[in-house]
Amino acid sequence: MIASLRRALERNEFAIVYQPKMAIGLGRITGVEALLRWRSAELGDIPPTVFIPLAEEIGLINEIGEFVLTTACADLKGFRDAGLRGLSMAVNLSAAQLERPELTLRICEIMAEHDIAPDQLELELTESMVMSNAEQSVRILGELKSIGVKLAIDDFGTGYSSLAYMKRLPIDTLKIDQEFVGDVTIDPDDAAITATIITMAHSLELNVVAEGVETAEQLAFLRTQGCDEAQGHLVSMPLPAEACRRFIAARSERARATI
Ligand code: C2E
Ligand code: MG
Ligand code: MG
Repeated sequence: MIASLRRALERNEFAIVYQPKMAIGLGRITGVEALLRWRSAELGDIPPTVFIPLAEEIGLINEIGEFVLTTACADLKGFRDAGLRGLSMAVNLSAAQLERPELTLRICEIMAEHDIAPDQLELELTESMVMSNAEQSVRILGELKSIGVKLAIDDFGTGYSSLAYMKRLPIDTLKIDQEFVGDVTIDPDDAAITATIITMAHSLELNVVAEGVETAEQLAFLRTQGCDEAQGHLVSMPLPAEACRRFIAARSERARATI
């Protein structure tokens, strides 16, 4: 797998799919998250949970991360040029990318190259990644924040968040892990945890996104709790760029027709 992974970039085996995010109140699509896919000629489809840790281990993640950022910004420009305005693009970063001194500068360059305003880009960092070196995270996230990009904590609830650091990190959004969201309608503990995260996030003036929303019942629960946005198969599967553009265009067309 390591040998195949080393050749994957030059062989164009990576692709990005985009998963729409919906504002729960209005049902409007607010943005998309870029999710990396690897279709290996030798090994078939390998999930990112398998190849991303491997890419980190063998020092390939910075190159792959550049590909993701560049492609996501180019596709966001494509969406805008095709008439879809006001969408945000969320990109997942890995720990090794955060440690790169030139990360902030590279992000500025990539945004400028594709004419992307900084507040259209949201960088997602997992809770465990941020909290594993919280003092360093405060500094690096502060630097990223200073260029105007949005910052989100991904998979919230599964790491070991220090609430003292939560207050100091310059973040905009919390994404509730699908582990809780998946069982909100059947497990009272998961319902209580989800409701508590939403309340806490709002007290800290953060936007809250629920991940992995699959059923109308889950969405109804999130709505009663005041969750801001939902992402998951109920809204849409992750889609290739052109299919995603058509999906969002069709939804806003329908929304206009019902007004
Ligand atoms: P994540 O960032 O938390 O992404 C959400 C994952 O949940 C995605 O899995 C997505 O396909 C899946 N998902 C979305 N809706 C549903 C649903 O309704 N039900 C269920 N069961 N799952 C849903 P995916 O694409 O396999 O990605 C897994 C993880 O790999 C991501 O979790 C992220 O941490 C990482 N990843 C993906 N792309 C990148 C990337 O470009 N860079 C880095 N560093 N990590 C990435
Ligand atoms: Mg994510
Ligand atoms: Mg997540």
